[in-house]
Amino acid sequence: LARNPGETEFHQAVREVLESLGPVLVKHPEFCHQKIIERICEPERQIIFRVPWQDDNGGVQINRGFRVEFNSALGPYKGGLRFHPSVYLGIIKFLGFEQIFKNALTGMPIGGGKGGSDFDPKGKSDDEIMRFCQSFMTELYRHIGEHTDVPAGDIGVGGREIGYMFGQYKRITNRWEAGVLTGKGLNWGGSLVRPEATGYGATFFVDEMLKVRGESFDGKTCTVSGSGNVAIYTIEKIHQLGGKVVACSDSNGYVYHEQGIDLELLQQLKEVERRRIKDYITYHKDAKYVENGNIWDIPCQVAMPSATQNEINGKDAAKLVKNGCFAVGEGANMPTTPEGVKVFLEAGIAYGPGKAANAGGVATSALEMQQNACRDSWTFEYTEQRLQQIMKGIHETCYEIAEEYGTPGNYVNGANIAGFIKVAKAMVALGLV
Ligand code: NDP
Repeated sequence: LARNPGETEFHQAVREVLESLGPVLVKHPEFCHQKIIERICEPERQIIFRVPWQDDNGGVQINRGFRVEFNSALGPYKGGLRFHPSVYLGIIKFLGFEQIFKNALTGMPIGGGKGGSDFDPKGKSDDEIMRFCQSFMTELYRHIGEHTDVPAGDIGVGGREIGYMFGQYKRITNRWEAGVLTGKGLNWGGSLVRPEATGYGATFFVDEMLKVRGESFDGKTCTVSGSGNVAIYTIEKIHQLGGKVVACSDSNGYVYHEQGIDLELLQQLKEVERRRIKDYITYHKDAKYVENGNIWDIPCQVAMPSATQNEINGKDAAKLVKNGCFAVGEGANMPTTPEGVKVFLEAGIAYGPGKAANAGGVATSALEMQQNACRDSWTFEYTEQRLQQIMKGIHETCYEIAEEYGTPGNYVNGANIAGFIKVAKAMVALGLV
């Protein structure tokens, strides 16, 4: 704590992992001798930089940029960029730390990193977004590369922003280096299924947890928080698997639609027109919008938090369980507070932590890197099949490791232990670096 003052989210993420690791250190004393815990909590490199840009009125704006290159034992640093006004070092470090274990769980050769800026994309013109992205990349470019560090999207960073950053990287370096960023557009190096991957993957993970309990999505009532990239494709896959998503949200409120969320309308509003979720009810008079409402008040059987960190607290978790929720799959990173996690674990519901459940996004980014490396592009069906296999594999690993370490059904322990052991063994093998 004294070493990283004020970094609340980072402390929370570290504590949550360390709480699982006691039995691992007993079994692997070499991890203690090699001070793996101390080393893994210290980023290999942290970069903080100034991002000056000009707004549409000619005014000068200054933001702060971050890239935390956390761990490269398994491969080049890999993790998204977040543009949101709440971003500071503590958030980027929590995300980067989680990313190390998540990436290890995918079985792909990728290390962990994360970056972003306190820039707020809301209400900015397309030109302002472009100027910001170009300025951000004008510093970031010297730290990244296909064998070094490969950023992608996260909150506030989608295909449009990746495009502007890729364009600037290409211009500065004079290299068309597809493997430097993932989440690219289809006609310039991107992969099919990447936009859908996190949401689809999280839904596949929950489907696996349900199967273990002799259940499925069929006929289940579900809620999905957020209405961004992860939420939209979670809703799509749940509907494909026979479930019904009755509510989604943004940071201003939630929409409840008993008949099931109209995905086509949601995509038009959010992806095409970049509007707010409250506009949904203009088109569906039987839906309701609750300003500042709490989406977790709505009874559901499956909940998939897909907005942001700490969006489900202890009370929300208790309410979900009381209302009959028996499965939670985290599309977002660390969306449940420690009190909330405790409630889910004690209730014995199927609880898939973000590290495992939302790993489909980064796994498909690694598939994009594979396609870039051999200048190939795979079909949608093939790529989705690969994603589904990967999610099945992650579920199996977490399930088996949880059992092996005496906590059957506890996917938190399963994910933390499996991810940690893989990275720790590589760190031991690579020596004191
Ligand atoms: P988007 O920017 O596409 O969407 C984010 C959504 O969450 C928006 O609806 C946004 O509402 C809402 N949201 C963001 N911040 C807050 C907040 N402080 N309070 C309430 N709602 C908020 O981001 P993504 O869908 O890409 O990311 C969502 C989550 O999934 C994040 O936790 C991210 O780290 C995680 N994730 C994303 C991956 C990806 O591939 N994109 C991969 C793995 C995890 P509003 O518009 O009002 O801000």
